[in-house]
Amino acid sequence: MAAVGIFCGCQKQEQAFQYNVDKFYDLEILRFDVPEFDQLTLQQKSLIYCLSEASLWGRDILFDQNGRYNLRIRRACEALYGNYPYDKNTDDFAAFERYLKRVWFSNGIHHHYSEDKFLPEFSQEWFVAACEKAGVQYDEAILPVMFDPAVMPKRTTQQDGVDLVAGSAGNYYGEGVTQAEAEAWYDAHKDNSEEPLWIGLNSQLVKNEKGEIEQRVYKVGGLYGEALEHVVFWLKEALKYAENDQQREVIEKLISYNETGDLKTFNEYCIAWVKDLDSRVDFVNGFTETYSDPLGITGTWEAMVNFKDLQATKRAQLISENAQWFEDHSTTDPKYKKEEVKGVSAKVITAAILAGDCYPSTPIGINLPNANWIRKAYGSKSVTIDNLMLAYTEAAKGSGFDEEFMIDEETRAREEQYGALCSNLHTDLHECVGHGSGKLMPGVTKDALKEHASTIEEARADLFGLYYLADPKLVELGLLPNEEAYKAGYYEQMMNGAMTQLKRVELGKDIEEAHMRNRQLIANWVLAHAKGEVEIVEREGKHYMQVNDYEGLRRLYGELLAEIQRITSEGDYAAAKEIVETYAVKVNQELHKEVLERFSKLNIAPYKGFVNPVYTAVKDKDGNITDVKIDFTEGYIDQHLRYSRDYSPLPSVN
Ligand code: ZN
Repeated sequence: MAAVGIFCGCQKQEQAFQYNVDKFYDLEILRFDVPEFDQLTLQQKSLIYCLSEASLWGRDILFDQNGRYNLRIRRACEALYGNYPYDKNTDDFAAFERYLKRVWFSNGIHHHYSEDKFLPEFSQEWFVAACEKAGVQYDEAILPVMFDPAVMPKRTTQQDGVDLVAGSAGNYYGEGVTQAEAEAWYDAHKDNSEEPLWIGLNSQLVKNEKGEIEQRVYKVGGLYGEALEHVVFWLKEALKYAENDQQREVIEKLISYNETGDLKTFNEYCIAWVKDLDSRVDFVNGFTETYSDPLGITGTWEAMVNFKDLQATKRAQLISENAQWFEDHSTTDPKYKKEEVKGVSAKVITAAILAGDCYPSTPIGINLPNANWIRKAYGSKSVTIDNLMLAYTEAAKGSGFDEEFMIDEETRAREEQYGALCSNLHTDLHECVGHGSGKLMPGVTKDALKEHASTIEEARADLFGLYYLADPKLVELGLLPNEEAYKAGYYEQMMNGAMTQLKRVELGKDIEEAHMRNRQLIANWVLAHAKGEVEIVEREGKHYMQVNDYEGLRRLYGELLAEIQRITSEGDYAAAKEIVETYAVKVNQELHKEVLERFSKLNIAPYKGFVNPVYTAVKDKDGNITDVKIDFTEGYIDQHLRYSRDYSPLPSVN
């Protein structure tokens, strides 16, 4: 989005959206735009407003789930931050501010990704003295938790030989509960029916005075009830603006589940949610992913409100509708083509607000529900979140990446103009038609390629997408503006596949992940088979991808597509193994070292998170919402201080 500012009453100035917000440690804070928000109806905007409020009220829950001292620590630090009695212009205060920013980012005192406890760079003495001078009260039990590296070192441990429950700082189990006790309790309460209840999804296990294991259920009137009451209040408000009966049922079930903690209601909610496909607005709100529980049972609280991105969804639909044309015109042998192929219609969404475990660090896709029996019987919803992807791309622009790794100005200009478009289109082609294309020969099964199956499958979908990215058909369909644009996507694929993606691999290690293997397979196979169409060249000691003949590059992609389809259709395990081992796994050590060195000089943080926009409801004198305003100016510190002030209903000890 470009906001338009009026200058001198006559001049218009295009002001770029500010994606970059803040940077500290290994973290960067970005802002995301919410395109098309202004085009929503008042009803949809009001619904988003209420659901956003329901999202923000859960923030404390995640802090407490991540560790029982987290709320006490956050509140002590925030109180000191707001009442600091000395000059703030000191190294100690700067270190303190960085620590607090990190606590907000991690929703606690453990790194959001590594899960290791991070230690303050100011001393305990400094903290204690400053709190005393400022009159900040705190529980002294937080001091060793903050400052002693040996206390609660890991949020969730997966270490062999360690009691996973007692050895994890996460608060899914009360003090003194052991892994054996928790597992015994789950075993005794397990539901083995065909439509099982997810026992333990919404509860903490604690030890009572008699030493018995007891369950504390997350619900209104139960554990975290003070926060869930507010969530329920705003879900009830949201009901007034439901777009249709199906969505109304979703919200009603979720209210009832929060009020009762009844897991059967939760299953009904999940089923209603999967069936809600026609609404423009959608959301997640509750105890969802289970990675943070060392036993993988209890859900971590998260929320996200979103709405369908109509333009992008249309783009995906257009590709799906032409699935048969793509199938018929690809380079694969006719005997491997499907006579009748159906495109998959992927849904692309715009995130409106992130909360709980989706904030500030967030997933770029959603694939729910998690219960396998529901997925089998009712399906699942899988979406990509375009506006967050766009924020990552746009925010990276100032990093110097393009200047460092792209060979010349022409390539950089093309990337600037068409890069994001090509990347979106390639994803659509990959998802909507790539995976669904082609067929297996009689007698060949899906698992014929064994450990190489996913690399080959991803390569097949990627190549299908790459081949068609350069097809005049895309220009004809109005998906690309001209027959030059695709070159941005081609250059990106070659550069990333052969070079820049190596930044995510440790020096000396092989490539393991299937998508990364697939990308290197394609780039390195093409380089090995090219006769001048594309090459890696050296300029002043640095290596660059150089494409000399884009049409020739397309022919090479097409050739490889035909071979990868043949391998798949024939279930040719030996050929799959050969091609993967030759091109996809091993890394050129010299090049890898160079890439890592060049990256280290760039200004790129390994982890990114977001600030949310601020939604404000405009109401008439009767309290009816007449408009919802969206504002993007709030900074990182201000946002967290405001959330802690306005959305913090839980007691410090739960
Ligand atoms: Zn894929």
